[in-house]
Order: sequence, then C-alpha cells, then structure tokens
Amino acid sequence: LQGYVGFANLPNQVHRKSVKKGFQFTAMVVGESGLGKSTLVNTLFNTQLYPPKEKVELTHETSQTVEIKSITSDIEENGVKLRLTVVDTPGFGDFVNNEESWKPILDNIESRYDTYLEQENRVNRRRTVDNRIHACIYFITPTGHALKQMDIEFMRRLHTRVNLIPVIAKADTLTEEEVFAFKQRILADIHYHKIQIYQAPAYEYDDQETIDENREIMSKIPFAVVGSDKEFDIDGGRRVRGRQYPWGVIEVDNEEHCDFVKLRQMLIRTHMEELKEYTNDVLYENYRTEKLSAMGI
Ligand code: GDP
Ligand code: MG
Repeated sequence: LQGYVGFANLPNQVHRKSVKKGFQFTAMVVGESGLGKSTLVNTLFNTQLYPPKEKVELTHETSQTVEIKSITSDIEENGVKLRLTVVDTPGFGDFVNNEESWKPILDNIESRYDTYLEQENRVNRRRTVDNRIHACIYFITPTGHALKQMDIEFMRRLHTRVNLIPVIAKADTLTEEEVFAFKQRILADIHYHKIQIYQAPAYEYDDQETIDENREIMSKIPFAVVGSDKEFDIDGGRRVRGRQYPWGVIEVDNEEHCDFVKLRQMLIRTHMEELKEYTNDVLYENYRTEKLSAMGI
C-alpha cells in the first residue's frame, strides 16, 4: 500500500457534504530553500506536483523578495476527488537580511482572507471560492540546536492567522537522540514565546480510540520528517520509499524511522476538515472582526 495516500476516507470526516463535489484543500509550505519542501509535498501526496529538478537558482540578483507560487492539482483515490493547492514560498530565509521574511507571507495569507470577505459581502454568494490557506507547514532546519530567530519571528507573526504545523526538515540527518532533544528545545521555545501551534481539538463525543489517536499524533509535533521520491528493495523483499545510506535505508513510511506517517495522517486522513473549520471559524473570523472594527464597522 505504498502508493496509497489515504484521502479516500475523507467522507468520514465530512458527513454533510456531497462526496461527488470533491474536496478542496490548500496547504502552504515555508522554510529555507533546500530543506526538502517540494520533495515532502510530492511524498505526501504521492504525486509529482513538483517535477523533478525544478532547480530554481535563487540568487540575490534574480529575486530580492519572497515569492509566492501556487500549484493546483486534482487527485483522485477510490472515487474520491481532492483538489489540492500547494502554495510555495521560494526565497524565504535565503537573503542576507531575513528580518522581514515573514511579511510577504502574512500579507499573502491576509489578502486571501480579504478576497473571501469581499465575496461574502457580495449579494450573489453562489460562486464563492475559498483560496484561504488551511495549513502552513513550517520547515525547521535540522541544526539539532534550537530555533533560529527567523523561525521564532515567523511563527510569532503568523500564529494568529494560520494553522501552524512545524516540522523538523531532513530528520534523517539527525540521530534519534538528537531529534528527541531538538524537539524538546523547539517546544520550549514555542512555549516561551507563547506561540500557538495547531492543536487538534478534543470533543466530548470523541471515542477513546480517537482520543488516543489524536494524542499520539500531537505527541510527535514538531514532526521529524523525511521525504523521498525514490524506492528501494530491502531485506524481506519489501519495496519502500526512503533514502539510502551506506548502512541501510531510512524508510519514509516507517514510524520507527520518522514521523512522516503521523504528519500525513493528521493532514490528510484525520484532520483535513478540522483544519479547514478552524481556519474558517476561528482564524478567519478573528481577522474579519479585527478588520471590521479597525474600519469602525
Ligand atoms: P526545497 O528547496 O525546500 O523545495 O527542497 P527540495 O525538495 O528541492 O530538496 C532539496 C534537496 O534535498 C534535494 O537534493 C532533495 O533530494 C534533498 N532532500 C529532500 N528531502 C530530504 C530529506 O528528507 N532528507 C535528506 N537527507 N535530503 C532531502
Ligand atoms: Mg522547492
């Protein structure tokens, strides 16, 4: 079942909506270039959303700012359609001065809210399109030390506007102990700076299995991820997606090796609808209220 992404169980998340219409989800990826963002997106959705070697050389001459690029793709699994949009932010953190790297990204997120707000205010709301960002996967450089100032600044500025999902990029470059200690430090920093990262809400009617599953997922944040578009044959005749080292293969889909499966589970199998609801009911609603009260309405 390597190639199975898992969104075919989306109907379980949304009972009220028609399955035929399909689902729509927009995720943003942010992090310095080379941290494996495009690879992880391809790995997550098991599709070449980003064609191999999209080697965009980012130099100070060609670009002075963070760009915002989005790719939309329709994928289908067991008859369930998902229209997936991935918003990439090349240039983030790649400049000499990265102090304001967060700003074009915040502007982009807010302008998507503005567009939605305008549509809501129109008389004919039938053709409302939702381009809001439902989740922002933030890639942390696997230094093994602590968050950088830039990471803290980004999360501090964005956490009230978007569902933040921090991940440790290229976790295969750290040992298990290093990952463990790094996670503790990252969480301590996040806590110290009062940054609100995405938390799955718990409901009274959740059964024990769901509660345990959520707890298990949340306990892995920040997810230590490994991405790869290569497969290898390993002992026992298994064919796995992974990255090859002289001593063996790090398996993307093996929970003993990294948290990729848990990230995918949350994003696609269990919390996609939840992320959309929180975006609409809390993040967007707060933005709308702030905006309207600033306008004196
Ligand atoms: P992006 O610039 O953040 O989109 O990064 P890419 O996805 O283009 O990856 C940059 C390089 O890192 C490529 O050579 C990838 O093969 C490699 N890479 C991607 N993911 C991983 C990973 O999880 N671990 C390791 N070690 N390398 C990775
Ligand atoms: Mg890329």
